[in-house]
Amino acid sequence: MSLATPDTNADILVAGAGAAGLSAALALVQAGFSVVCVGCVDSRANGRTVALFEASLRFYKSLGLWRNFRGRTAPLEKITMIDATEARLPVPSVTFAASEIGLAAFGENIENNVLVEGLAEIAAQTPGLVLHEGMLSDISFDADAVRATLADGHRVEAKLVVAADGRGSLARTKAGISARSWTYPQVALTALLTHEKPHRHVSTEFHTRSGPCTLVPLRALEGRPNRSSLVWLMSAEDADHRRALSPAALAREIERQVDSCVGKIEVEGTCGYFPMAGMSVARLFRPRIALIGEAAHVFPPLAAQGLNLSLRDSAALVEALEDARGLGQDIGSAQTLAAYAKARRGDISLRTNGIDILNRSLLSDLFPVDFLRGAGLFAFSMIGPLRRALMREGVLTHGTLPRLMQARAHRSYARHN
Ligand SMILES: Cc1cc2nc3c(=O)[nH]c(=O)nc-3n(C[C@H](O)[C@H](O)[C@H](O)COP(=O)(O)OP(=O)(O)OC[C@H]3O[C@@H](n4cnc5c(N)ncnc54)[C@H](O)[C@@H]3O)c2cc1C
Repeated sequence: MSLATPDTNADILVAGAGAAGLSAALALVQAGFSVVCVGCVDSRANGRTVALFEASLRFYKSLGLWRNFRGRTAPLEKITMIDATEARLPVPSVTFAASEIGLAAFGENIENNVLVEGLAEIAAQTPGLVLHEGMLSDISFDADAVRATLADGHRVEAKLVVAADGRGSLARTKAGISARSWTYPQVALTALLTHEKPHRHVSTEFHTRSGPCTLVPLRALEGRPNRSSLVWLMSAEDADHRRALSPAALAREIERQVDSCVGKIEVEGTCGYFPMAGMSVARLFRPRIALIGEAAHVFPPLAAQGLNLSLRDSAALVEALEDARGLGQDIGSAQTLAAYAKARRGDISLRTNGIDILNRSLLSDLFPVDFLRGAGLFAFSMIGPLRRALMREGVLTHGTLPRLMQARAHRSYARHN
């Protein structure tokens, strides 16, 4: 791995080496920019996985990165939603099949740490990209450049900082961009599970009064053909209770919650507990800074939208910067970054608000809310075009996808870069 020397100069400084930062750094370097990515690579295995949908897979494939993850993912061919809220009106179950919208699968599920470590390994070997493992301690913005100091004393200068340093983003704060944060009375328990019966590539969501409890297909391991990951939203008290259980007792509680749909369950390794929060920002850019990933938006892990949204941020940013460079414009200028923000605003606000409403509709037991939720699910179960429109929106998003995510375009992009 190459180390940044003091006073490193690059076109772009990416702050944060999580999934969003590393993905953006790799995409930007392939687009021909010199990049320094600063952050600590988080390789903790805590039962957390990410389901990457079709547009995200196209992004990684167009960059030639997906081959590194082959054999380490599991496809999601169907998503079944089952109401377990005991609402006064019966709420139908709905199954969404990728084949209905002409796809073999909605996407692929992968352990978060496997994805992040894999991206970091590629980044460390990519010419033009310096991965500096450490933290940024200060950033200042001038008219022509951004100057950052790392905790180990190194100084980096760039034309633009891409803030991918998570929800508490130092870069965002230093740029004076305000953020509004809120919390939900929920904790997400994550775990990797081995189970008795096959998942048949179906992700199953049980909607409870404390949020969804979701089983997502996971790749088979030797001697463990049937595996899934779990994301179970529950109250903080229930999370405390379950944290204290033995793995066998926890497995029994999970099995009860999912109605034994995959038979006997065994919990593998360490579980994760994530307090649920939301955040939105006043703006996505200022001159010399663009926000992406959880530095720009946070919401609970319903419908697997977070990283998929972040990769759309990256793909749109690459496009805006390439276009600016083609026109001879400054990549850190307000004009360039306004184009990025314009491309992203609608998608981000749709996901943040949509997930908020969906989550709160589960937490509320008011009759009108139950009625609307039930009517919505009934409509999706009965009306094919509506169901297909929702599926397309979920996996490919509305509006024009950035070039890196357009079907087939990725092959020619990869050839040219
Ligand atoms: C339980 C759970 C399940 C999820 N499931 C899905 C899913 O199925 N599909 C999906 O699309 N999304 C999912 N998400 C969301 C997804 O995991 C996140 O959106 C994504 O991981 C965020 O990545 P990020 O890189 O923006 O942020 P982070 O992962 O928070 O990374 C930020 C990085 O910045 C670093 N950093 C912070 N401060 C500094 C500094 N001063 N200097 C340098 N570096 C700094 C941090 O160390 C960290 O490495 C899930 C989330 C959770 C919690």
